Amino acid sequence: MTVSQRLLELRKSIPEGVELVAVSKFHPSEAIMDAYGAGQRVFGESRALELEAKAGELPADIDWHFIGHLQTNKVRKVVAHASLIHSIDSERLLRAVDDEAAKAGREPGVLLQLHVAKEETKFGFTPEELLDFVTPELLASLKAVEIRGVMGMASNVDDEDRIRSDFREIRTAFDSLRAGVFASSPSFSIVSMGMSHDWPIAVEEGGNMIRVGTSIFGEREY
Ligand SMILES: *Cc1c(COP(=O)(O)O)cnc(C)c1O
Repeated sequence: MTVSQRLLELRKSIPEGVELVAVSKFHPSEAIMDAYGAGQRVFGESRALELEAKAGELPADIDWHFIGHLQTNKVRKVVAHASLIHSIDSERLLRAVDDEAAKAGREPGVLLQLHVAKEETKFGFTPEELLDFVTPELLASLKAVEIRGVMGMASNVDDEDRIRSDFREIRTAFDSLRAGVFASSPSFSIVSMGMSHDWPIAVEEGGNMIRVGTSIFGEREY
């Protein structure tokens, strides 16, 4: 199947109200244009330089999301192109994105990345850390960015119960924040979870934005 056929198949199986981010990292611009031709506008990239290069040559109405680990020295490039940054994993990074966005006159949305998976190397806040971190004072101090939700990944395992409970933990943290510090912020609404192999479980557990690469574009060649 071609990229556009796989995309259309996938779209048919995604319930209404769930946003698809087509993860195009490591895939060439031609593949992105195939998906674009099939109507896709939201694409996810995980490296700042790759985002910059693709955004420079592809149609201006593409909505770029940044989903990878972001180092503070790359923040400017990402802020210049991304409308939503999924991977805010520290206060330092949040402040850096906010500073650069204010300087550039941009107002990107950001998602706070949760660490619930059992892998040691994953970035992000634990649910407990996140609930402590997000205070009314923090929100009042932000100049340009808007916190629009949370992002997370499940453990990279075959055990469906484990995957499900990881997603449930992400959704529960989101619900606590929404009922608390974001109670009067309707734009705090995004639960970004689920990838090619586990997105149906993520959606069952309350995810409303999925990040799918391999099922659309095929395997990546690193
Ligand atoms: C690469 C990546 C994806 C997409 O993964 P697939 O398995 O190819 O669907 C989703 N989220 C993040 C954070 C990624 O880095």
